[in-house]
Amino acid sequence: MDRLILININQLVTCKGKAPKKGAAMNDAGIFSNGCVVIESGRIVAAGSVPEVFSKFKDSDCEILDCSRNAVIPGFVDSHTHFIFAGSRPDEFAMRMAGSTYMDIMDAGGGIVSTVSKTRLAGLEELTTQGMKRADSMITFGVTTVEGKSGYGLDRDSEIKQLKAMKDVNERHFIDVVPTFLGAHTVPGEFTGRSNDYLEYLLKEVLPVVKKNNLAEFVDIFCEKGVFEIEQSEYYLGEARKMGFGLKLHADEIVSLGGAELAARLGAVSADHLLKVSNEGIRAMAEMGVISTLLPTTAFCLKEEYADARGIIDSGGAVALATDFNPGSSFTNSIPLVMALAAIEMNMSVEEIIIALTINGACAVNRQNEIGSIEAGKKADILILECPSINYLPYNTGINLVQKVIKDGKVVYDKYEKHEYR
Ligand SMILES: [Zn+2]
Repeated sequence: MDRLILININQLVTCKGKAPKKGAAMNDAGIFSNGCVVIESGRIVAAGSVPEVFSKFKDSDCEILDCSRNAVIPGFVDSHTHFIFAGSRPDEFAMRMAGSTYMDIMDAGGGIVSTVSKTRLAGLEELTTQGMKRADSMITFGVTTVEGKSGYGLDRDSEIKQLKAMKDVNERHFIDVVPTFLGAHTVPGEFTGRSNDYLEYLLKEVLPVVKKNNLAEFVDIFCEKGVFEIEQSEYYLGEARKMGFGLKLHADEIVSLGGAELAARLGAVSADHLLKVSNEGIRAMAEMGVISTLLPTTAFCLKEEYADARGIIDSGGAVALATDFNPGSSFTNSIPLVMALAAIEMNMSVEEIIIALTINGACAVNRQNEIGSIEAGKKADILILECPSINYLPYNTGINLVQKVIKDGKVVYDKYEKHEYR
């Protein structure tokens, strides 16, 4: 029997559940002291306290992993990233810090356009290699599942190349990748002034190929004033839903446009960013169970106000947190930074933060039956921290406290010994 038992867990944080935790339930992280987790063939078969669990499963040849009185939590789900791209934009960051506006940066040849031209030129293998390196870094921060978006190709072949790179990373790396099609990230130069034509092109020429080859699970759109308006987004996402895709939106980031209300009307899985979300939007999303995916590192890097996490949670909504890792506005996949900002700037409790990065993140990528919590039947994606309780996570500000990462039942990362992510 291939059985591994984790014992001597000072604080076992299970985040148990298979649905988004909303409102006050985000403070219920399912915590056991003196915890024990039993894993067989990559799956969790039992989790609870030692007296309840250990004697039932201990046998002569099971392997025991002593967690040294540390805390154990589910693997993190980074549910919003753009991690497949070519090139980088450090000069743009410097310009921004020196006071340049978005338009100044665009005029200097920066912004998304520069990433699009480099990504179009890059080969598939180059994108995959970059993606693998980034996934190596994600694993060290305890991310065991990552959502990745296309959206730097903006033509059929380049968008598909990005999605194929994600598929390759998913197959070659221990990390699990959930692919999202974001062809509607911006309007490419070839379609300037013709955003409706571009959306039609995506619907007729690109999405059928994506669907046929099963290259994306979700379709996302950058719903913002002057990019894709509410009516356009509603039409496009409605058509994508008919084709069988789950829906996501970049919504209400810059202007309060009604993106959250649209997400609720469409029954989207999540609406993301939400810096300028209206109170009606918050209420509508809470009612429909649409997850609010908040991206504090983006607000931090752009020196924006943070999203109103408290307002969303206190209105009964479900929050997920993610890094938004991308080459422009948030060139970081640092989970410790996300946690620090969520605690200090967004007034989230540590339990809410862990729920937002685990089970609610899993729900935001429709993997709630497989991952996001430590409970019987789910994949054994588990983190052993270097501290006795999760209270250390925001307190030891910005520090990576992940000591061991267990992916599909195997230790794939140990800070002091083993680095085997692939
Ligand atoms: Zn994004």
